[in-house]
Amino acid sequence: MFPDKFEYYAPKSIEEATKFLSGHEDAKVLAGGQSLIPMLKLRFTSIPELVDIGKISGLDNISINGNTLEIGAMARTSDIAENQTVRKIFPLLSEAAGLIADPLVRNMGTIGGDICHGDPANDFPAVMLALDADFIASSAKGKRTIKAEDFFIDTFTNALESGEILTGIKIENRNSSGRYLKYKKYAGDFSILGLAVDLSMDGKMVKRAGIGLTNCGATPLKARDAEKFLEGKELTNKNIESAANLLLKVTDFMDDDNGSTKFKEKLLKYLFTKAVKGIGGVQE
Ligand code: FAD
Repeated sequence: MFPDKFEYYAPKSIEEATKFLSGHEDAKVLAGGQSLIPMLKLRFTSIPELVDIGKISGLDNISINGNTLEIGAMARTSDIAENQTVRKIFPLLSEAAGLIADPLVRNMGTIGGDICHGDPANDFPAVMLALDADFIASSAKGKRTIKAEDFFIDTFTNALESGEILTGIKIENRNSSGRYLKYKKYAGDFSILGLAVDLSMDGKMVKRAGIGLTNCGATPLKARDAEKFLEGKELTNKNIESAANLLLKVTDFMDDDNGSTKFKEKLLKYLFTKAVKGIGGVQE
Protein backbone atom coordinates (compact mmCIF):
# COMPACT_ATOMS: atom_id res chain seq x y z
CA MET A 1 0.00 0.00 0.00
CA PHE A 2 0.97 3.61 -0.44
CA PRO A 3 0.97 6.11 2.43
CA ASP A 4 -1.48 9.02 2.42
CA LYS A 5 -0.10 12.17 0.75
CA PHE A 6 2.44 14.08 2.87
CA GLU A 7 4.87 17.00 2.40
CA TYR A 8 8.53 16.05 2.84
CA TYR A 9 11.08 18.44 4.37
CA ALA A 10 14.79 17.79 4.87
CA PRO A 11 16.16 20.62 7.04
CA LYS A 12 19.92 21.09 7.25
CA SER A 13 20.04 22.14 10.93
CA ILE A 14 18.23 21.47 14.21
CA GLU A 15 17.27 25.16 14.34
CA GLU A 16 15.60 24.87 10.92
CA ALA A 17 13.88 21.59 11.91
CA THR A 18 12.56 22.84 15.26
CA LYS A 19 11.42 26.15 13.70
CA PHE A 20 9.41 24.18 11.11
CA LEU A 21 7.99 21.81 13.75
CA SER A 22 6.95 24.74 15.97
CA GLY A 23 4.65 25.95 13.19
CA HIS A 24 3.33 22.52 12.13
CA GLU A 25 2.21 20.58 15.19
CA ASP A 26 0.95 17.53 13.25
CA ALA A 27 4.32 17.09 11.51
CA LYS A 28 6.40 14.05 12.49
CA VAL A 29 10.14 13.50 12.67
CA LEU A 30 11.52 10.92 10.23
CA ALA A 31 14.77 9.26 11.36
CA GLY A 32 15.65 5.79 10.00
CA GLY A 33 12.07 5.14 8.91
CA GLN A 34 12.14 1.52 10.11
CA SER A 35 8.99 1.97 12.19
CA LEU A 36 7.40 5.09 10.78
CA ILE A 37 7.48 4.12 7.10
CA PRO A 38 5.79 0.72 7.63
CA MET A 39 3.09 2.46 9.75
CA LEU A 40 2.52 5.03 6.98
CA LYS A 41 2.43 2.38 4.26
CA LEU A 42 -0.03 0.25 6.23
CA ARG A 43 -2.04 3.46 6.80
CA PHE A 44 -1.91 2.92 10.60
CA THR A 45 -1.20 6.64 10.66
CA SER A 46 -1.36 9.56 8.28
CA ILE A 47 0.88 12.59 8.71
CA PRO A 48 0.65 15.87 6.76
CA GLU A 49 4.36 16.72 6.93
CA LEU A 50 7.46 14.54 7.46
CA VAL A 51 10.61 16.27 8.73
CA ASP A 52 13.59 14.10 7.76
CA ILE A 53 16.39 14.81 10.26
CA GLY A 54 18.76 12.47 8.45
CA LYS A 55 20.46 15.32 6.57
CA ILE A 56 21.41 17.23 9.75
CA SER A 57 25.15 16.75 10.34
CA GLY A 58 26.53 15.89 13.78
CA LEU A 59 23.37 14.17 15.02
CA ASP A 60 24.97 10.71 14.82
CA ASN A 61 28.13 11.23 16.88
CA ILE A 62 29.18 8.70 19.53
CA SER A 63 31.76 10.25 21.89
CA ILE A 64 33.07 10.39 25.44
CA ASN A 65 32.87 13.77 27.17
CA GLY A 66 34.64 13.55 30.54
CA ASN A 67 32.88 10.72 32.37
CA THR A 68 29.85 10.68 30.08
CA LEU A 69 29.06 8.76 26.91
CA GLU A 70 27.23 11.05 24.48
CA ILE A 71 25.25 9.52 21.61
CA GLY A 72 23.49 11.52 18.91
CA ALA A 73 19.88 10.49 18.32
CA MET A 74 20.61 9.66 14.68
CA ALA A 75 23.34 7.13 15.59
CA ARG A 76 22.47 3.98 13.67
CA THR A 77 21.87 0.79 15.64
CA SER A 78 24.70 -0.97 13.76
CA ASP A 79 27.17 1.83 14.61
CA ILE A 80 26.30 1.47 18.28
CA ALA A 81 26.67 -2.31 18.13
CA GLU A 82 30.11 -2.02 16.54
CA ASN A 83 31.48 1.03 18.40
CA GLN A 84 34.55 -0.04 20.43
CA THR A 85 34.08 2.63 23.12
CA VAL A 86 30.48 1.54 23.70
CA ARG A 87 31.53 -2.12 23.72
CA LYS A 88 34.20 -1.40 26.37
CA ILE A 89 32.27 0.89 28.72
CA PHE A 90 28.66 -0.24 28.27
CA PRO A 91 28.71 -3.88 27.07
CA LEU A 92 24.97 -4.23 27.62
CA LEU A 93 24.27 -1.33 25.21
CA SER A 94 26.31 -2.88 22.40
CA GLU A 95 24.87 -6.33 23.24
CA ALA A 96 21.31 -4.99 22.96
CA ALA A 97 22.10 -3.13 19.72
CA GLY A 98 23.40 -6.33 18.14
CA LEU A 99 20.17 -8.13 19.05
CA ILE A 100 17.86 -5.62 17.36
CA ALA A 101 16.12 -6.88 14.21
CA ASP A 102 18.52 -7.78 11.38
CA PRO A 103 21.50 -6.11 9.64
CA LEU A 104 19.27 -4.19 7.20
CA VAL A 105 17.13 -2.64 9.93
CA ARG A 106 20.17 -2.04 12.16
CA ASN A 107 21.93 -0.15 9.36
CA MET A 108 18.97 2.21 8.90
CA GLY A 109 17.30 2.35 12.33
CA THR A 110 18.50 4.89 14.88
CA ILE A 111 18.71 4.86 18.67
CA GLY A 112 16.57 8.01 18.81
CA GLY A 113 13.83 6.38 16.77
CA ASP A 114 13.95 3.15 18.73
CA ILE A 115 13.54 5.12 21.96
CA CYS A 116 10.90 7.60 20.67
CA HIS A 117 8.77 5.07 18.83
CA GLY A 118 7.50 3.77 22.17
CA ASP A 119 6.96 0.12 21.24
CA PRO A 120 7.35 -1.77 24.56
CA ALA A 121 9.03 -4.56 22.57
CA ASN A 122 11.84 -2.25 21.36
CA ASP A 123 15.16 -3.16 22.96
CA PHE A 124 17.01 0.13 23.56
CA PRO A 125 14.51 1.64 26.07
CA ALA A 126 15.12 -0.99 28.78
CA VAL A 127 18.87 -0.41 28.45
CA MET A 128 18.33 3.35 28.87
CA LEU A 129 16.32 2.65 32.03
CA ALA A 130 18.98 0.32 33.45
CA LEU A 131 21.72 2.90 32.72
CA ASP A 132 19.65 5.84 34.05
CA ALA A 133 20.30 7.70 30.79
CA ASP A 134 19.41 11.36 30.23
CA PHE A 135 17.70 12.40 27.00
CA ILE A 136 18.30 15.83 25.44
CA ALA A 137 15.20 17.29 23.79
CA SER A 138 15.56 20.33 21.51
CA SER A 139 12.85 22.69 20.30
CA ALA A 140 12.50 26.28 19.03
CA LYS A 141 12.36 27.25 22.73
CA GLY A 142 15.76 25.68 23.52
CA LYS A 143 16.97 22.44 25.10
CA ARG A 144 15.87 20.41 28.12
CA THR A 145 16.93 17.17 29.76
CA ILE A 146 14.46 14.35 30.36
CA LYS A 147 15.42 11.40 32.59
CA ALA A 148 14.87 8.05 30.86
CA GLU A 149 12.64 6.95 33.75
CA ASP A 150 10.33 9.92 33.06
CA PHE A 151 10.24 9.45 29.28
CA PHE A 152 8.04 6.44 28.60
CA ILE A 153 4.46 7.54 29.32
CA ASP A 154 2.38 4.86 27.63
CA THR A 155 2.51 2.54 24.63
CA PHE A 156 3.72 4.61 21.65
CA THR A 157 3.59 7.73 23.86
CA ASN A 158 6.65 9.57 25.16
CA ALA A 159 7.31 12.74 27.17
CA LEU A 160 8.44 14.88 24.22
CA GLU A 161 6.33 18.00 23.81
CA SER A 162 4.97 19.13 20.45
CA GLY A 163 7.82 20.57 18.37
CA GLU A 164 10.56 18.74 20.32
CA ILE A 165 13.18 16.50 18.77
CA LEU A 166 15.26 14.01 20.76
CA THR A 167 18.76 15.12 19.78
CA GLY A 168 21.02 13.29 22.22
CA ILE A 169 21.48 10.68 24.90
CA LYS A 170 23.91 11.05 27.84
CA ILE A 171 25.00 8.13 30.00
CA GLU A 172 27.29 8.48 33.03
CA ASN A 173 30.15 5.98 33.16
CA ARG A 174 29.78 4.29 36.58
CA ASN A 175 32.42 1.62 35.93
CA SER A 176 29.63 -0.90 35.89
CA SER A 177 29.10 -4.06 33.95
CA GLY A 178 25.90 -5.30 32.42
CA ARG A 179 24.04 -7.79 30.27
CA TYR A 180 21.10 -7.53 27.87
CA LEU A 181 19.26 -10.83 27.50
CA LYS A 182 16.47 -11.20 24.96
CA TYR A 183 14.09 -14.10 24.47
CA LYS A 184 12.64 -14.27 20.96
CA LYS A 185 11.34 -17.00 18.65
CA TYR A 186 13.34 -16.39 15.46
CA ALA A 187 16.43 -14.39 14.48
CA GLY A 188 15.45 -10.77 13.79
CA ASP A 189 12.30 -10.98 15.89
CA PHE A 190 11.18 -8.48 18.48
CA SER A 191 11.59 -9.56 22.13
CA ILE A 192 9.00 -11.86 23.60
CA LEU A 193 10.64 -10.43 26.66
CA GLY A 194 14.00 -8.84 27.37
CA LEU A 195 16.01 -7.63 30.35
CA ALA A 196 18.82 -5.12 30.88
CA VAL A 197 20.85 -5.42 34.09
CA ASP A 198 23.69 -3.03 34.99
CA LEU A 199 25.65 -3.56 38.23
CA SER A 200 28.39 -1.49 39.88
CA MET A 201 30.19 -3.72 42.38
CA ASP A 202 32.25 -2.77 45.45
CA GLY A 203 34.13 -6.00 46.06
CA LYS A 204 31.41 -8.63 46.53
CA MET A 205 28.78 -6.03 47.35
CA VAL A 206 26.37 -4.42 44.88
CA LYS A 207 26.93 -0.65 44.99
CA ARG A 208 24.40 0.29 42.31
CA ALA A 209 21.86 -1.79 40.36
CA GLY A 210 19.99 -0.71 37.22
CA ILE A 211 17.29 -3.00 35.80
CA GLY A 212 15.12 -2.34 32.70
CA LEU A 213 12.47 -4.68 31.29
CA THR A 214 11.39 -5.10 27.65
CA ASN A 215 7.87 -6.20 26.66
CA CYS A 216 6.83 -6.87 30.26
CA GLY A 217 4.03 -4.29 30.25
CA ALA A 218 2.52 -1.40 28.28
CA THR A 219 5.80 0.54 28.41
CA PRO A 220 9.47 -0.27 29.01
CA LEU A 221 9.71 -0.81 32.80
CA LYS A 222 12.29 0.09 35.44
CA ALA A 223 12.39 -2.48 38.28
CA ARG A 224 13.10 -0.03 41.10
CA ASP A 225 12.20 -2.38 43.99
CA ALA A 226 14.58 -5.06 42.76
CA GLU A 227 17.30 -2.42 42.20
CA LYS A 228 16.95 -1.02 45.73
CA PHE A 229 16.83 -4.53 47.24
CA LEU A 230 20.15 -5.55 45.64
CA GLU A 231 22.03 -2.37 46.60
CA GLY A 232 24.27 -2.91 49.62
CA LYS A 233 23.94 -6.70 49.42
CA GLU A 234 26.10 -9.58 48.20
CA LEU A 235 24.97 -11.64 45.21
CA THR A 236 24.01 -14.75 47.17
CA ASN A 237 21.51 -17.18 45.60
CA LYS A 238 18.97 -16.12 48.22
CA ASN A 239 19.37 -12.39 47.48
CA ILE A 240 19.20 -12.99 43.72
CA GLU A 241 16.02 -15.06 44.15
CA SER A 242 14.41 -12.36 46.34
CA ALA A 243 15.33 -9.66 43.78
CA ALA A 244 13.92 -11.82 40.95
CA ASN A 245 10.61 -12.06 42.81
CA LEU A 246 10.55 -8.25 43.14
CA LEU A 247 10.72 -7.89 39.33
CA LEU A 248 7.18 -9.26 39.21
CA LYS A 249 5.94 -6.28 41.23
CA VAL A 250 6.21 -4.08 38.10
CA THR A 251 5.44 -6.57 35.30
CA ASP A 252 2.00 -6.65 33.68
CA PHE A 253 2.09 -9.72 31.43
CA MET A 254 -0.79 -10.99 29.28
CA ASP A 255 -1.42 -14.56 28.13
CA ASP A 256 -0.85 -14.62 24.37
CA ASP A 257 0.58 -16.76 21.53
CA ASN A 258 4.05 -16.21 22.97
CA GLY A 259 3.14 -17.82 26.27
CA SER A 260 1.12 -17.62 29.46
CA THR A 261 1.74 -15.05 32.18
CA LYS A 262 3.06 -17.85 34.39
CA PHE A 263 5.56 -18.90 31.69
CA LYS A 264 6.74 -15.31 31.14
CA GLU A 265 7.17 -14.69 34.87
CA LYS A 266 9.28 -17.84 35.23
CA LEU A 267 11.28 -16.93 32.10
CA LEU A 268 11.95 -13.39 33.33
CA LYS A 269 13.22 -14.69 36.70
CA TYR A 270 15.44 -17.23 34.91
CA LEU A 271 16.93 -14.57 32.58
CA PHE A 272 17.45 -12.20 35.51
CA THR A 273 19.27 -14.85 37.53
CA LYS A 274 21.42 -15.77 34.52
CA ALA A 275 22.29 -12.10 33.86
CA VAL A 276 23.11 -11.24 37.49
CA LYS A 277 25.20 -14.37 38.04
CA GLY A 278 27.01 -13.70 34.77
CA ILE A 279 27.86 -10.12 35.76
CA GLY A 280 28.70 -10.97 39.36
CA GLY A 281 30.75 -14.03 38.43
CA VAL A 282 28.50 -16.16 40.66
CA GLN A 283 28.56 -19.92 39.96
CA GLU A 284 25.31 -20.90 38.04
P1 FAD B 1 11.56 6.06 12.59
O1 FAD B 1 10.86 4.85 12.10
O2 FAD B 1 12.06 7.06 11.62
O3 FAD B 1 10.64 6.82 13.67
C1 FAD B 1 9.99 6.08 14.67
C2 FAD B 1 9.16 7.03 15.54
O4 FAD B 1 10.01 7.81 16.37
C3 FAD B 1 8.34 8.06 14.74
O5 FAD B 1 7.17 8.36 15.46
C4 FAD B 1 9.25 9.28 14.70
O6 FAD B 1 8.51 10.49 14.55
C5 FAD B 1 9.91 9.21 16.05
N1 FAD B 1 11.29 9.71 16.07
C6 FAD B 1 12.36 9.14 15.46
N2 FAD B 1 13.49 9.81 15.78
C7 FAD B 1 13.10 10.84 16.60
C8 FAD B 1 13.82 11.90 17.26
N3 FAD B 1 15.15 12.01 17.16
N4 FAD B 1 13.10 12.79 18.00
C9 FAD B 1 11.75 12.68 18.11
N5 FAD B 1 11.02 11.69 17.53
C10 FAD B 1 11.69 10.78 16.78
N6 FAD B 1 13.34 -2.71 17.26
C11 FAD B 1 13.89 -3.28 18.37
O7 FAD B 1 14.23 -2.56 19.32
N7 FAD B 1 14.10 -4.62 18.44
C12 FAD B 1 13.81 -5.46 17.41
O8 FAD B 1 14.05 -6.65 17.50
C13 FAD B 1 13.24 -4.91 16.22
N8 FAD B 1 12.93 -5.69 15.15
C14 FAD B 1 12.48 -5.09 13.99
C15 FAD B 1 12.27 -5.86 12.84
C16 FAD B 1 11.85 -5.26 11.66
C17 FAD B 1 11.65 -6.09 10.43
C18 FAD B 1 11.62 -3.85 11.61
C19 FAD B 1 11.20 -3.18 10.34
C20 FAD B 1 11.83 -3.08 12.74
C21 FAD B 1 12.25 -3.69 13.93
N9 FAD B 1 12.49 -2.94 15.08
C22 FAD B 1 13.02 -3.50 16.20
C23 FAD B 1 12.11 -1.51 15.13
C24 FAD B 1 13.26 -0.62 14.83
O9 FAD B 1 14.53 -1.04 15.24
C25 FAD B 1 13.07 0.72 15.55
O10 FAD B 1 11.82 0.93 16.06
C26 FAD B 1 13.34 1.71 14.55
O11 FAD B 1 14.70 1.62 14.40
C27 FAD B 1 12.96 3.06 14.95
O12 FAD B 1 14.04 3.87 14.62
P2 FAD B 1 14.02 4.71 13.27
O13 FAD B 1 15.23 5.55 13.29
O14 FAD B 1 13.83 3.83 12.12
O15 FAD B 1 12.75 5.63 13.54
